[in-house]
Amino acid sequence: MSQNRIVVKVGTSTLTDGTHHLNRRRMLELAQQMVQLREQGHEVVLVSSGAMAAGREHLGVTPTQRPKKAAALMPYKQMLAAVGQSRLMMAWEQVFGMFEVKVAQVLLTRADLSDRHRYLNAREALLAILAHGIVPIVNENDAVVTEEIRVGDNDNLSALVANVVDADILIILTDQDGLFTADPRKDPAATLIHEVSQIDDNLRSIAGVSSTNLGVGGMATKLQAADLATKSGIAVVLAHGKRVGAMVGVANGEKIGTRFLPQASAPDSRQRWILSDKTAGGVRVDEGAAQAIAKGKSLLHVGVRAVLGKFERGAVITVCDDRGEVEIAKGITRCSSAEAIRLMGKKSTDVAALLGGEAATWLIHADDLVKI
Ligand code: GLU
Repeated sequence: MSQNRIVVKVGTSTLTDGTHHLNRRRMLELAQQMVQLREQGHEVVLVSSGAMAAGREHLGVTPTQRPKKAAALMPYKQMLAAVGQSRLMMAWEQVFGMFEVKVAQVLLTRADLSDRHRYLNAREALLAILAHGIVPIVNENDAVVTEEIRVGDNDNLSALVANVVDADILIILTDQDGLFTADPRKDPAATLIHEVSQIDDNLRSIAGVSSTNLGVGGMATKLQAADLATKSGIAVVLAHGKRVGAMVGVANGEKIGTRFLPQASAPDSRQRWILSDKTAGGVRVDEGAAQAIAKGKSLLHVGVRAVLGKFERGAVITVCDDRGEVEIAKGITRCSSAEAIRLMGKKSTDVAALLGGEAATWLIHADDLVKI
């Protein structure tokens, strides 16, 4: 059996079993499964929610008791997470400790992952923890995040983490058996989708939006996570958090939950980082440019039809088809949005003349482009 690097995401509803406090027994069962994975030779990274739930539990408040004013909500959540994060870790430390397995806390924000240098730094830390036989337990650094720098949900965070550590499998545990053809809580005819090879609009509409008020991730964020991870060459499995032996079964290739197949060509580490970055803007390109990108060529200004949003030179931007409907690539731009607007549609010779022959004549060089 091959030995895999596995990222396991456990959400608040699994950790609390739908109640207002952490379910230590469930945590023990989950830890036991992860220990079993390690004993089979796999490496395990845990992405755990539950900081806010643990904060509420400790302070004796319920989700409905949160402040009504929007401005007060963020600091309140930060406070809850600050109270609860250490308690969450303490609970994990206790249950893993029963198997004599050590754990390490890693708190991240999107800002830690969107800068290439910081991304590599986070990667080094996580890999060092794994190399020492310790289980890294990752969560968003909720106590210090602002709207701008947060990932916002641990489904997406787990995909980013899987990307950072070059995982083979991402297991997202949830309170359902996987992705169904309709919401199984409302539609008894809904059936489980066992395998997904392509995440399309039909699947997105099936996934709908979040319905639980305990965590923040619904099926929609799980699908976003699966989208990012599979594009990075990582298999993703959605499985029920209560299913006995789910993790070991998934690692052994058993038919459990919904399995999203990784895309054939796994990008390298730098390309993965480009894929994982949240883009500030993008461009629409004509058919010729789209074909050139498909062949692995650079994106030239001549093929750009429109510039979308505001971005700086060096930012990761999205490249869409002419109608702006399909994202075809992501890449690091050599121009700001203002420069891109000025050079849009211009031939390379004109661009060179305009720029005095100094700057690059392309908008995104082939080395910095990742097809999606
Ligand atoms: N980071 C949040 C917490 O620990 C949870 C985010 C989520 O559930 O997706 O409470």
